[in-house]
Amino acid sequence: MLETFKNFIAGEWVAPTTGEYFDNRNPADWNDVIGKFPRSGPADMLKAIESAKRGFAKWSKTPAPIRGQVLQRVGDLLVQRKDAMAKAMTREMGKVLAETRGDVQEGIDTAYYAATEGRRLFGRTVPSELRNKWAMSYRRPIGIAGLITPFNFPLAIPTWKMFPALLCGNAVIFKPAEDVPHTGHLLVEVLIEAGLPPEVVQLVHGQGSVVGRAMVEHRDVPVISFTGSTETGSIIGATCGKMHKRLSLEMGGKNAMIVMGDADLDLALDGVLWGAFGTTGQRCTATSRLIVMKQVHDEMVRRLSERASKLRLGDGLDPATEVGPLVNRAQRDKVHSYVEIGKKEGAKLVAGGSPAEEGPLREGNFYRPTIFDGVEPTMRIAVEEIFGPVLSVVTVSSLEEAIQVQNSTPYGLSSSIYTRDVNRAMRAIRDIEAGITYVNGPTIGAEVQLPFGGVKETGNGHREGGPTVIDAFTEWKSVYIDYSGKLQKAQIDR
Ligand code: NAD
Repeated sequence: MLETFKNFIAGEWVAPTTGEYFDNRNPADWNDVIGKFPRSGPADMLKAIESAKRGFAKWSKTPAPIRGQVLQRVGDLLVQRKDAMAKAMTREMGKVLAETRGDVQEGIDTAYYAATEGRRLFGRTVPSELRNKWAMSYRRPIGIAGLITPFNFPLAIPTWKMFPALLCGNAVIFKPAEDVPHTGHLLVEVLIEAGLPPEVVQLVHGQGSVVGRAMVEHRDVPVISFTGSTETGSIIGATCGKMHKRLSLEMGGKNAMIVMGDADLDLALDGVLWGAFGTTGQRCTATSRLIVMKQVHDEMVRRLSERASKLRLGDGLDPATEVGPLVNRAQRDKVHSYVEIGKKEGAKLVAGGSPAEEGPLREGNFYRPTIFDGVEPTMRIAVEEIFGPVLSVVTVSSLEEAIQVQNSTPYGLSSSIYTRDVNRAMRAIRDIEAGITYVNGPTIGAEVQLPFGGVKETGNGHREGGPTVIDAFTEWKSVYIDYSGKLQKAQIDR
């Protein structure tokens, strides 16, 4: 019997007011339906907002170290459920089990990091310019934080937002991506079991353009934290701009790996395979461009296309699988349309280039790991985000040219350089326009204790991760205490 899931609003699991549901299917096998999930409407979001206001009133007055203890228990429960949650996530969105286990681990790390922040959350005490006067500033929660998340890290990305937002004393409303509602459900179950007061978290499933929009447009949700495509981020940004809302945007990427002539090629090969085809290329930090020096180009491309063609496609739950399916059929069609564009633009297809449909793969959204050689930096496949297993190889003759190519897209999330020359590595770190640069590692591999985010059209200046994320979820208050017993005027009486 197919399970019907609910929203979590006002401390209860409730059916959507619309009475409508959508099927959540396994992208490796479309005959496998995970369950029915609410296609909620604006009325459900309004109820969630009213409840979150009550949740905020209580939670914001709970001491931060006690809030941290709840997150500590959340981390403990995630540890206990790591395997079960990873399996559910693979079934729902396709990436291989080793990667979904990593996704849960990132949530665990984020929970424990946030838990300890409850005993820091530092403010500043600074000297007053006047005698017998005390001055300090401290962080306060803002209110209801609306969290809108993408499909590719169904647990990790919601936790990057939710755990710091909660630690800071906000209530949260969570709108997971339509392709991954089950992982969202499992996460909220953990929060409630860990002892989070029920009205502090709300889960509203449904379409972004309906419930996500209702949340963004509501005046009582003063903070929006969004991760997803640059296109959706622009729509949300326009509304938040008009309404003067706090907004953190983490958006698309077109990340490049530079391989210099002196690089360890074995290492670079392992790195580019993992960077380009891990998560089936559906990472914001995926390596989608390889910028390679001409003296190592031939060897690199030959060995790379050989290895890419041998990667084993299949159900991510099968331990032998190296590359899972794309998340849905529309995404597979989009990837294929970019392959057609690449061919028309004159790039040379050296691996993949078609859907994989043999045997059981026919029932899923599989696409062969694809490599284009001879790509010019201005071609669409070198500039636009494809979000699939497609790598574009650009050949260059100097570090300066490599960096110029690297910087020639509208995005600026992640980047990497393989070289044994420290001077080149340092120049790349300085000159690459991106939020993250790896040296002798692929473009993926962020750790939760460091700032995460991008420049240019990837972001709007905020960072997740580390201590920096707290800026998105707190407001500063400055406090002056005059104990002189007389009127003292700043800037005048000194
Ligand atoms: P998407 O933009 O289609 O959807 C993201 C979320 O926005 C979903 O929950 C969706 O329901 C919601 N949404 C859609 N329209 C909305 C609207 N009008 N108002 C409010 N919410 C709306 O993105 P996706 O396909 O789920 O994810 C892939 C994208 O996410 C890629 O571009 C990828 O680069 C990006 N991404 C970025 C990062 C980062 O940290 N920079 C991390 C992961 C993914």
